[in-house]
Amino acid sequence: MKVKRIEFSVLSPETIKAMSVAKITRTELYDEEGYPIEGGLMDPRLGVVDPGVRCRTCGNSVGECFGHFGYIDLTRPVIHVHYIKFIYSLLKMICWKCNRALFDEATIDKTKRYSLKDLAKLVKKKCPHCNSEQKKLKLIKPYSFVENSDVLTPVKIRERFEKIPDDDLKIMGFRNMRPEWLVITLLPIPPVTVRPSITLETGERSEDDLTHKLVDIVRINDRLRENIDLGAPDFIIEDLWELMQYHVSTYFDNEISGVPPARHRSGRLLKTLSQRLKTKEGRFRGNLAGKRVNFSARTVISPDPMIQIDEVGVPEVIAVELTVPLRVNASNLEEAKKFVMNGPDVWPGANYIIKPDGRRKKITAQNKEEIIKEIAAGYIVERHLKNGDIVLFNRQPSLHRMSIMCHHVRVMTDKTFRLNLCVTIPYNADFDGDEMNLHVPQTEEAQVEAENLMAVQKNMRSPRFSAPIIAAKIDHVTGLYLLTNGDRKFSREEYTQLVRSVNQDVELSDKESMTGKEIFSLFLPKGLSIEYKSKSGGNVVIKNGKLLEGTIDKMSVGAESGKLLDRIEKEYGAHVANKFLFDVTTLAVKLLTQYGFSISISDQDLPESARLEVKKLMDQIRRDVDNMIEQYNKGELKVLIGRSPKESLEHAIKITLRNGLNSAEKILNEHMKENPTLTMARSGARGDLVNIVQTAIMVGQEMTMGERIERGYRGRVFPHFKVDDINLEAKGFVSRGFKEGLTPFEFFFDAINSRESLMDKSLKTRHSGYMERRLVGALQDLKVEYDGTVRDSDNRIVQFVPGEDGIDPSKNEREGVNVRRIADKLFG
Ligand SMILES: [Mg+2]
Ligand SMILES: [Zn+2]
Ligand SMILES: [Zn+2]
Repeated sequence: MKVKRIEFSVLSPETIKAMSVAKITRTELYDEEGYPIEGGLMDPRLGVVDPGVRCRTCGNSVGECFGHFGYIDLTRPVIHVHYIKFIYSLLKMICWKCNRALFDEATIDKTKRYSLKDLAKLVKKKCPHCNSEQKKLKLIKPYSFVENSDVLTPVKIRERFEKIPDDDLKIMGFRNMRPEWLVITLLPIPPVTVRPSITLETGERSEDDLTHKLVDIVRINDRLRENIDLGAPDFIIEDLWELMQYHVSTYFDNEISGVPPARHRSGRLLKTLSQRLKTKEGRFRGNLAGKRVNFSARTVISPDPMIQIDEVGVPEVIAVELTVPLRVNASNLEEAKKFVMNGPDVWPGANYIIKPDGRRKKITAQNKEEIIKEIAAGYIVERHLKNGDIVLFNRQPSLHRMSIMCHHVRVMTDKTFRLNLCVTIPYNADFDGDEMNLHVPQTEEAQVEAENLMAVQKNMRSPRFSAPIIAAKIDHVTGLYLLTNGDRKFSREEYTQLVRSVNQDVELSDKESMTGKEIFSLFLPKGLSIEYKSKSGGNVVIKNGKLLEGTIDKMSVGAESGKLLDRIEKEYGAHVANKFLFDVTTLAVKLLTQYGFSISISDQDLPESARLEVKKLMDQIRRDVDNMIEQYNKGELKVLIGRSPKESLEHAIKITLRNGLNSAEKILNEHMKENPTLTMARSGARGDLVNIVQTAIMVGQEMTMGERIERGYRGRVFPHFKVDDINLEAKGFVSRGFKEGLTPFEFFFDAINSRESLMDKSLKTRHSGYMERRLVGALQDLKVEYDGTVRDSDNRIVQFVPGEDGIDPSKNEREGVNVRRIADKLFG
C-alpha cells in the first residue's frame, strides 16, 4: 500500500465511540484476586501486557496485540488545553447571538484559503448578520473564558460552536471537522499497552503515570455525576467541574504555566502525554529520530602520538564485546575455528555463531569444542575486533562530515580510546574528559564504503576552506620550528637518534653533523619544489625535496594554512601526505622530548630598554587623547561625515588606542629576547603576540559592543568618576599588563568585557546548533543521484549539478593558477 497523504484532524465523539471496545466507568483496577476488573482502566478488552494471557478483543498474546482504545463519558464537557488559543480566536470570530461568522460576505474571496491571522483582521465589531453589538471576550489563563462579566462555560462554548453553519466554517478553513469537537465530551482511553503496569518482585503492582492520571479523571467524573444526581448546590458542582478540567488538562500536559503540576504520592512530577513526546528524550527526538544502536562503544579519549593518524586505539575490554561477522568458507575455516577456540573471554575470540538457517548461538567455555566440530562453510562466526578492522569514529557535536571518519583498529590495554593528535582538529577534541563513539560496520559493503569515502586520508582537506584540516598542532609546530629555524646542527649521534626513532627506512648518510633543515628534508617527497612565505617571516624554499631556506611553522604544516602539506597532498596523494605528516610530527615530538621545552612567567619580563619605550608610548597615547578631547570641547575637532561630534571623537580615540596597541607589539618584537613563549607565538603553535602584549605591556581598551564602556550610572560607569568624564581611565582603558596587575577599576572593566564575550560565545553556539537542526531537517532527503542531479525523496530535481557549479570545494586551488610553478615543472 502506498500512503498518498496524511491529514491531521480532531476526533469526533462518534469516532471515539466507534474505535472503542470498552466504556470505562469503574475506579478500581483489580479485584481481590488481582484480576483486572471489567469496566476499569485495566479492562482486559483494552489489550494484554502480561505474558500467558490472551487479549479479550483480538485473541492475541503479548507482543502481537497492539491494544485497543476505550472511552470515558464525561459528565460535563471540558476544554482541551492545547486548543485553548484556537477556541479563543474562534469565539472572537463568531457572533454571540446568531452564531454566524463576523465577516462581511462581500469581502470574502471564497477561492482563497485564509489564515486565522488574516481572518481576525476581517472581523467586524457589529454582526453583519443580526446587527448586534459584540461583547468583550477575555481569556483568563489557563483555561477560562469571561464575556463582559459572565463566565463562558465549556457547555456554552460547545453550544455556540454547534450552531455555526457549515458554510461559515468552510471560510474559516475547517475541513472534515466541527469546532465543537475541541470541547471534550468523550475522552479516549489509550490501550494498556501504552501504559503497561509493572509487577514488582514483592508481587505488588506499580501503575504507569498515565493510569494514575486516568484514575483521577474517572473518580472525579463519578463524583461529579453523583452530586448532580443528588441535586447538590451549584458551587459544589462548579468546584468539581473545575477539578475535572484540571485533571483532564494535566493528563494532556503536566507543564502548563499557571497550573500546579500533578504529582505522584512520593512528590515526583507525573509524566503525562505531552511530556512523553517533548524534548530530546521524548518520543520524536529520543525514539524516532535517534535510537541506540548495537555494535557501538563509547569511552574517554587519550592522546597517543605514536599510533598512525588513521588508527584508533581500542581497549581490549571493548574489542571483546564488539564483533565483526566472519563468513566461513574453505579458506578461512581454520582461522574461524581458532576464534571459536578462544571463546568470548580471550581476545581475539568470538562471541556468537550464526548457523546457515539463521539461528544464533552463544559461544561458551562449555560448548566451544562442540561448535568447532560443527562449523563449516556457510556459517558465520561473530569474531572479536582485531587490528586493522574498519570502524567509524565520531565525536559530537557532529558539525561537519569530518566529525565521523573511518579508522583502523589497534587493540590496546587500558580503558580509553587512543588517537593521534593530528586528528583532534577535525573532531575538535581535547583530552580534558572528552568521550567519543565507535561504530563497527557489519557488512562487507559497509566496510568498503566506509574505507573509500570516510577514511581519515580521504578527509585531509576541508571542503570549507580547501586546505588541510588534519595537520600538525601545538607542539608539532613548535618542534619543527626549533628544528628548522636558523642553522641548528646535530651531531651524528644526535641525528641518528632523532631520525631512527621516527622511521627506520630513511636512508642516512654518514656525515659528521646534519642541520635541522637537512634532517627535515629526509622526510620530504623526492622531487618536491615549492616556495612560499612562512609565518615567522622570510621565504621557505624547497627544491627537489630539499629544504634550502626558511623555517617550517604553521604556514607549512598547520591546519587551514599548511601550504607544504597542501602541496604534498595534491601532488603525491593523500597517503604520502599522511605519512609525511606522521613522520614530521613524531620527529617534532621526539625533538621536544629529547631537548626539552618549557615556558615560564619570566618569559614575559620586559628589558629595561623596552620599558622606557613603553613609557614613552603611553605618554604619547595620553597626550594624543587629551588633545583630541580638548579640541572636542572647543568644538574644533574634525567631524566625520555622517557622525556627530561625540561619535567622531569616540572614533578618533578608538583608532589612536588601536594604533597604540600595534606600537606596543612593535616594541615587543624589537626588544624582547627570544624565549619559549615567543617561539610559540611566532611559529603559530599557540597564542598570539597580542596575548603577550596584554600580559607584558598593557591590556588596552576594554569594549562592549564595539564601543568604549558606557553603561552603569548616568554619564559614568562607576560612582567614583565624575559625571560625563570621557577620559581614558573612566571609559575602560587598561594601561597595565596582566603580569603587573590591574587596579580594581581596570579589573572590573576587564570583567565586563569578559562577560560579554562569554555570553556571545554561548549564545552563538546555541543559535547555530538550532539553525543546523532546522537545516538538517529540511535537507536530509536530498541526494546526489548517479546521473549527477540532486534530487529529493520524490525524485524531483533540486539542482542539475551539485552546488550549481559541480565544484568540489575541497579540491579547489585557492590562489588561482601559479604559472611559475607550472613553468618550473616543465622546464626544470
Ligand atoms: Mg574537552
Ligand atoms: Zn487485542
Ligand atoms: Zn449575529
